[in-house]
Amino acid sequence: MDSITTNFGELVFNDIVMRERMPAEAYAALKDTIRMGKPLNPDIADIVADAMKAWAIEKGATHYTHWFQPLTGVTAEKHEGFLGCGPDGLPVIEFSGKDLIMSEPDASSFPSGGLRPTFEARGYTAWDPTSFAFIKDNTLCIPTLFFSYGGDALDKKTPLLRSMEFISRESLRILRLFGHTDVSRIIPTAGAEQEYFLVDKELYDKRPDLVFCSRTLFGAKPPKGQEMEDHYYGAISRRVSLFMRDLDSELWQLGVFAKTEHKEVAPGQYELASIFADANTSTDHNQLVMEMMKTVALRHGLVCILHEKPFKGINGSGKHNNWSLATDTGTNLLAPGKSPKDNLQFLLFLAAIIKAVDKHQDLLRICVAGANNDWRLGGFEAPPSIVSIFLGDTLFDLLTSIEHKEEYEDAGDRILESGLCTIPRLRIDTTDRNRTSPFAFTGNKFEFRMLGSSQSIADANTVINTIVAESLAEFAERLEKAEDFRREAFRIIRHTMREHKRILYNGNNYSEEWVKEAEGRGLLNLRTTVDAMPRFVSEENIALFSERGIYTRREMISRYDISMENYIKLTRIEANTMITMAQRMILPAVIGYETKIADAVSVKDRLGVPNESEYALLRALSDGISALHKGIGRLLDSLSAMPEDRSAAAAHCRDSILPAMASLRNAADSLEVITEKSAWPFPGYDELLFSL
Ligand code: ADP
Ligand code: MG
Repeated sequence: MDSITTNFGELVFNDIVMRERMPAEAYAALKDTIRMGKPLNPDIADIVADAMKAWAIEKGATHYTHWFQPLTGVTAEKHEGFLGCGPDGLPVIEFSGKDLIMSEPDASSFPSGGLRPTFEARGYTAWDPTSFAFIKDNTLCIPTLFFSYGGDALDKKTPLLRSMEFISRESLRILRLFGHTDVSRIIPTAGAEQEYFLVDKELYDKRPDLVFCSRTLFGAKPPKGQEMEDHYYGAISRRVSLFMRDLDSELWQLGVFAKTEHKEVAPGQYELASIFADANTSTDHNQLVMEMMKTVALRHGLVCILHEKPFKGINGSGKHNNWSLATDTGTNLLAPGKSPKDNLQFLLFLAAIIKAVDKHQDLLRICVAGANNDWRLGGFEAPPSIVSIFLGDTLFDLLTSIEHKEEYEDAGDRILESGLCTIPRLRIDTTDRNRTSPFAFTGNKFEFRMLGSSQSIADANTVINTIVAESLAEFAERLEKAEDFRREAFRIIRHTMREHKRILYNGNNYSEEWVKEAEGRGLLNLRTTVDAMPRFVSEENIALFSERGIYTRREMISRYDISMENYIKLTRIEANTMITMAQRMILPAVIGYETKIADAVSVKDRLGVPNESEYALLRALSDGISALHKGIGRLLDSLSAMPEDRSAAAAHCRDSILPAMASLRNAADSLEVITEKSAWPFPGYDELLFSL
């Protein structure tokens, strides 16, 4: 075997390793838990722990950790040494089934949104056997769920797993009606495409805004931006390509199929797509991808920036979440097959998705909310805040003909006419590729494109699973009672089209016309996190999630609180960083340069040499400095007027602090373009974006 495939997954306690290292009976019991969601017997846990420990130590692990995903959106770990002190004072290796199954990290500093007061700060992590353990940094990482003492979920994974159960159950009801008795489980699948920027570490370290906020708060437009579109898919420089290879090899060892890599539209921007897996594994994989990107970049003197909008005037970074449903027998339920018009089962699932997305536009906006992603949504070259679905002409026409009870004429395969006889005849994908749609059907899956690059994919998949399962449950209800099940299915599709077709849009989502048209159609346009989040805790949404056991009311309120708090904290940190940079770096630097020009003006004046140009520059600098000074004052005033009440404070951030930050930025950026380059106190956009 070649080295690529032998190293693949070598740091993962995966199915092959388990089968090799565990007694057949224990292995079978564990597989039942993984595949069928059956509870695991504690004796088996001891056997798994033994096998895991022996394997990990052979691989050089010295520690283990319960690896979990608290509401910070990133992962957390607390390392324990394998080494313990035996009764005779000699070292022993300690790791039992108990250590595997549960741990009690002192977790009082993780956000809990009031679910866990500090006097009962205990949090519990519980082993999730459905995601494989792995070794990172000589530490055995055990994927776990995170709960409070009272049993409330404090992480992003628990609701995701609950939603996976829900959609499996409801999809199965539909599949039974179509006679698929061999299927026992339906698995939502997800594949994330991850965008990111790379910046030279030396330049990065000189910018407090990048260091503290991961985005530039100042920076004039460079002479060249992305207008030439020469970066997209361009040749990758040696330095970046070495980074990518190193990253791939780390990810492959961790069992992540890092697959496609290319340059993105913006200078300095790149993308990595990994191959899809079940939504749980994929969520873990994407966390590992983000973490490894950061770690490996540092080894190459680079910093990986995952912020959604690090540079003004240049594309932001998103994450595409490709989503579908698969049976445990390996069938993709969103594959239309050769003749979609005869594939009633596919059309029913499609209708369920259309209904879900239209009915729950707010939830799809909410699951990607956050101060950082607000900069990108509705911004430059990015999905707008309006949710809509792209189906492509073929499916759209097919559903429309069902709606109107008309015969559907299949247009047949489209062949690419290249005009060259040496080129093979290529069939064109009839789903087309609308790159601007936030929720696009791409052949055999949907691609949800509103996620921000730094966000966990857990929330988005929790929402998609839940809302689609809700539609499927309603369909199943009707179909199970129907006398003629096929007729009823067509009726359901017809009703769905009548009531929900406003959500279907095949045009350019980035155009101004769409914003107007969407308004006319009554679609939501929730521009900011502050506009969107309160709807999360509306009675309808609480009922939707709590009745299906995805989130309890308490869990929802706590998540809402954390999200609003984060929005306020982040805005405050950014405002304070701006003030520090403006007062302590920009102002002194520009005054120094101003003094130099003032000297030139007076020397020339004394000599009787014409000095209009120097004088004009001096005036411009002086005016700019006043504007900067005013900008600082306005932002300071706005910060000190922050209301106590949380909702009022969030609105104050959106309506007062952000505009004050924008005007301070304008003042500084105007100064940057007239100040001597070597006098500017930190690297500009030209260096940050074009040095790799
Ligand atoms: P594009 O650039 O056209 O969006 P990519 O090849 O970059 O396409 O990414 C496609 C992504 O979709 C990959 O992560 C791939 O693994 C994922 N994907 C493919 N099939 C499925 C599926 N059935 N369910 C979920 N994700 C899928
Ligand atoms: Mg994509």
